Amino acid sequence: FSAIGEEREIDREEFTPGLEPQPTWCPGCGDFGVLKALKQAMPEVGRTPDETLLCTGIGCSGKLNSYFESYGFHTIHGRSLPVARAAKLANPGLEVVAAGGDGDGYGIGGNHFMHTARENHDMTYIVFNNEIFGLTKGQTSPTSPKGHKSKTQPHGSAKDPIRPLSLSLTSGASFIARTAAVNPNQAKDILIEAMEHDGFAHVDFLTQCPTWNKDARQYVPYIDINDSEDYDFDPTNRAEAQEMMRTTEDKLYEGEVLTGVYYRDEERPSYGQEKRQIGEMPETPLAERYFDEDYEWE
Ligand code: SF4
Repeated sequence: FSAIGEEREIDREEFTPGLEPQPTWCPGCGDFGVLKALKQAMPEVGRTPDETLLCTGIGCSGKLNSYFESYGFHTIHGRSLPVARAAKLANPGLEVVAAGGDGDGYGIGGNHFMHTARENHDMTYIVFNNEIFGLTKGQTSPTSPKGHKSKTQPHGSAKDPIRPLSLSLTSGASFIARTAAVNPNQAKDILIEAMEHDGFAHVDFLTQCPTWNKDARQYVPYIDINDSEDYDFDPTNRAEAQEMMRTTEDKLYEGEVLTGVYYRDEERPSYGQEKRQIGEMPETPLAERYFDEDYEWE
């Protein structure tokens, strides 16, 4: 159980592990951009490493735990979300971040993604979306474009890619954004907003994989929909957000990269808040009760 709430100046270098392992990501990998943005965001959110839990799945993205100083749990494939949910419910004061790739989160762990969004668990979920399975050497993933050739689909994928932003909205996420590793300033700001949001914050993070997805876009140039004069919509309006997501998902596969905050619902209570309201969960978190010798268990 961490000592939450201590106020002091936080330096981003506190999130660099003491042993400073050199990342084994390939040169030019978008994963470096996620790590950088996350380290830059943490001091502005006001969280220290011992107030933060990072749960990862399997994949190149899962190495994030090795390069980011915090509590960590490297789970099995597609299972970062159930672990993160349990930790947040047991210790609501923790800043909980879950991370994984598009294959991990939208494929193997797709069921957990859908239900964690539906239940609006209070956490940030970063999906490294490079439209491919990277660590296992370039197989087609749920976000690979139709027609994409790989070892598993040598004649080109016959499948339409899933639409992660739309799926997230339909499932019930209360904060939804897309950013890109090539845009570190926007990525940092979006991660800050996601972590400060009370509820399930889903960030689809476009990360280029130059090793196995050589034909893929580098996600440049990108357009920030919240700043662009070409796109005028209200992210607190569900119907307008839905339309904006549909446009974005179509345009990505046509070569135009739209990013920004798509949806924000500040009214909806998180799962933990709901459970406390109905009296199903004691006000004192499990993590505190566990270490309180005087606590009387029922
Ligand atoms: Fe990054 Fe792709 Fe290399 Fe994995 S295989 S580290 S995703 S560039």
